[in-house]
Amino acid sequence: MGDLADRFPNLHVSAHPLVAHKLTLLRDKGTPPKQFRDLVRELSWLIGYEAMADLTTRPKAMETPLEAMEGRELEPRIGLIPVLRAGLGMVDAMLELMPRSQVWHIGLYRDERTLKPVEYYNKLPDAATVQVCLILDPMLATGGSSAATVDILKAWGAARIKQVSLIAAPEGIATLSEAHPDVDIHVAAVDRYLNERGYIVPGLGDAGDRQFGTFAGPDSEPGIPSPETAEVVHRLQRSLAKDL
Ligand code: URA
Repeated sequence: MGDLADRFPNLHVSAHPLVAHKLTLLRDKGTPPKQFRDLVRELSWLIGYEAMADLTTRPKAMETPLEAMEGRELEPRIGLIPVLRAGLGMVDAMLELMPRSQVWHIGLYRDERTLKPVEYYNKLPDAATVQVCLILDPMLATGGSSAATVDILKAWGAARIKQVSLIAAPEGIATLSEAHPDVDIHVAAVDRYLNERGYIVPGLGDAGDRQFGTFAGPDSEPGIPSPETAEVVHRLQRSLAKDL
């Protein structure tokens, strides 16, 4: 972790005890979908709060019941971009924090064999309507979907982009940071590695399945084993080891 943090100054890992406590409950294979969804929402709130710490504010004239004063209001317009489908569970928490945020949808799915992102849906307007974009994805695994989403958002004209995740793999942090060093990455934890099926270890399994009740059970092993997947993971790991 020390090496990663030194190498990627854009990486921010929460040190909050509440985050550590809730993340442990989230990872537990016995946590049922309802509790899992609640925990995703609560953790998103906490990590989102930390990720917003450097947002600019501007003066706002207002009156308390006692006198007029100058308050502050958030300056940038915020866009939330959940990575479908697991990122959907993070949207409500962010809207609780910043109710005037816009929610934009870009659909990328991860080809289960090559682990490459494939775009199948894009509902962005022609030009950027927000100044800060938050990419929401509970799991930063290979980093491929996030890097591709950032490409799309930058081409759209997004000025500032942050990634908000719950668990990241070192491989995903390296992929996203090398492609886009200007994108801040906020996470609750950095795990050990990606396995040959592209899953974060120890992780929590498939964040989409566990939220939406499509989890086949604690004994099912997630991901499709394939030589292509293993090769992609090995390539990411070689590149990470070379640079560290
Ligand atoms: N996506 C998930 O939901 N879990 C992982 O471990 C990796 C990618």
